[in-house]
Amino acid sequence: MKYEGMIYRPPSEANSLILQVTVGCSYNGCTFCHSFRDRTFRIKSFDEIKEDIDQASSFGPIPRVFLADGDALIIPQPDLIRILKYLKLKISGLERVGIYANAVDVLKKDMDELKELKALGLGIIYLGLESGNPEVLKRVKKNATVEQMIRAAKRVKEAAIQLSVTVLLGVGGVELSHDHAADTGKVLSEMDPEFVGALSLIVVPGTPIDEELRSGRLVLPNPFELIRELGIMIANCRFTECFFASNHASNYLPLRIRMPREKERALQLIREVLKRKDPDLLRPEYMRAL
Ligand code: SF4
Repeated sequence: MKYEGMIYRPPSEANSLILQVTVGCSYNGCTFCHSFRDRTFRIKSFDEIKEDIDQASSFGPIPRVFLADGDALIIPQPDLIRILKYLKLKISGLERVGIYANAVDVLKKDMDELKELKALGLGIIYLGLESGNPEVLKRVKKNATVEQMIRAAKRVKEAAIQLSVTVLLGVGGVELSHDHAADTGKVLSEMDPEFVGALSLIVVPGTPIDEELRSGRLVLPNPFELIRELGIMIANCRFTECFFASNHASNYLPLRIRMPREKERALQLIREVLKRKDPDLLRPEYMRAL
């Protein structure tokens, strides 16, 4: 398999075959994101992708494939169909293909196109909401509005493709901490995804948000303020059925909860942690990572 640069994938795709179909992110403009700053976006040629699939076909059954990099749904529909059809043809035991997507790319596909992708094996789309607060989205230069995020989520769900949404604790700084958390919970409820992954902001040197931090324009919430955000977010979430995880290595308090069933239990735990304010209850700083 030929990979260009560092490869990123959702934690839940840890056991999947990672097939790099694009290099980098076509937008590459979110102020907090360092992932693809070092590379120029391109869509790989079918010949390059075919070579990787041919090689993977000798590995034996592969139930899950993840299409990298940052926003591979941007691939034009005929090319994506060609990739999915070839995967289906060559990979034995294939049950699900996953992909990262931007809301604007989802909205460029009509319902028939999304349903066609679903029929060819696209089973899950990972979408970065980061925040449900319009001012936070503007400040971090996310390339979609809250309204677009909600419409994209509804379209994915209508096509019967599973949806996993990522949110970012701390990204509103201390100033917008409460509104960021409350609005994110409300917007997540409207999106009503099957999965939510909450990460905590870790500022990487050299990113635009690092500049804001150094200049004092952004002040990061402390660990207990981040957990307070998590609590406000969860309190504002009303899901049909969702697996909500904050067990990513960036977080101080790892949770894995089925909502709505376990919502109260999670809130009770968060209240307890905030009451005791004992650092020993948190993931140690040296164990936090992106
Ligand atoms: S859209 Fe995603 S991959 Fe691209 S810059 Fe923003 S956070 Fe990074």
